Amino acid sequence: MTGGHDQLRLLGGGDAGGSAAIIDPAAQADFDKYHRCPILADQVEFAAADAEVAFDDAQPAFGEESCRLFLGGGTLGLRGGHGGRTMAPMNMTDTTPALYVVATPIGNLSDITLRALDVLRAADLVACEDTRHARTLLDHHGIRAQTVPLHEHNEAAASVRLVEALRAGRRVALISDAGTPGISDPGARSCAAVRAAGFAVVPLPGPSAAVTALSAAGLGDARFLFAGFLPAKATARRHEIESLRHVPAALVFYEAPHRIEETIAALAAILEPERTLVVARELTKLFEQIAVMPLAEGPAWLAADDNRRRGEFVVAVSGPPPRQGLDIEAERVLKTLLAELPVKQAAKLAAEITGAAKNDLYQRALELKA
Ligand code: SAM
Repeated sequence: MTGGHDQLRLLGGGDAGGSAAIIDPAAQADFDKYHRCPILADQVEFAAADAEVAFDDAQPAFGEESCRLFLGGGTLGLRGGHGGRTMAPMNMTDTTPALYVVATPIGNLSDITLRALDVLRAADLVACEDTRHARTLLDHHGIRAQTVPLHEHNEAAASVRLVEALRAGRRVALISDAGTPGISDPGARSCAAVRAAGFAVVPLPGPSAAVTALSAAGLGDARFLFAGFLPAKATARRHEIESLRHVPAALVFYEAPHRIEETIAALAAILEPERTLVVARELTKLFEQIAVMPLAEGPAWLAADDNRRRGEFVVAVSGPPPRQGLDIEAERVLKTLLAELPVKQAAKLAAEITGAAKNDLYQRALELKA
């Protein structure tokens, strides 16, 4: 494990890209203290000249080591083979053509798996949302694969080209700008097209902002619902939040800085004030912040400091508070109706029969069906 000082050196070659700013020595010291290394798209640029050399020297050995450790000397398994066990194709040196869907960092360039580096190194072609953005990551790890754009506006046409490349025996990987492809990012169409053409699609797990935020949120909910970005228009956003209100799970959203205030205000206005709000900002980056508070306090917390509205956000809200229990008769009627009817209809009829609140019955019905 590299220490903070070494990480600074390693980062030097990684262009911060985007609206990068030079940081002063005080900030570097701070960085060193927390052993945190940025950063794909913002905030910080490190100027150390020897960084790429340091990382390049180290990394192939790690990759080979990972093969030895997990693959028994780099022998590659295939799905369905090997003594009845199902084994995924492991990496690009596998001879079976496949599309490798590779999760990449959400900020900290070191958050990439050894297997992902192996696969990207071996790729002939890396499909990515923004080729310049991808080069930041690839150059940082000394990866020279050809990049091709694949984004929401060209995914259909680009998928055809990926299939052609696979037919030509080329090794193809898919990444997005950050995190896991297909999660609020392009990728779904390509996976479907590649599979429809008869090729395997091999996922390489790694960072995703939603799961990263949840892992540290400390919410007690056993389940979560990932809702992605809420609609930009106020009415549609309100309807969406209302439709999620009774879901018996924590809710997880993505949000951009220019809409974070409206989103938190809408959540606070519609959902129960005692729910727990988690604002996870700039995860894995220099200014990472994870704030936890009652939902009702969210708007004031955001308004109190301009910095709290900067960066990239995951917003999580705990599930609905416990309802007052249904009485035995309402529970019995609901269960009987649920055995024959869909949830909504059963709750409505049970409310008419027993006089219990329809929402309570609906929520209980969801629990019973789960
Ligand atoms: N595919 C990505 C994933 O697996 O998380 C998500 C891509 S989506 C286009 C980008 C959104 O993810 C951002 O607007 C933000 O809501 C969230 N996000 C990405 N990186 C983040 C980070 N470092 N901290 C907090 N949220 C982040």
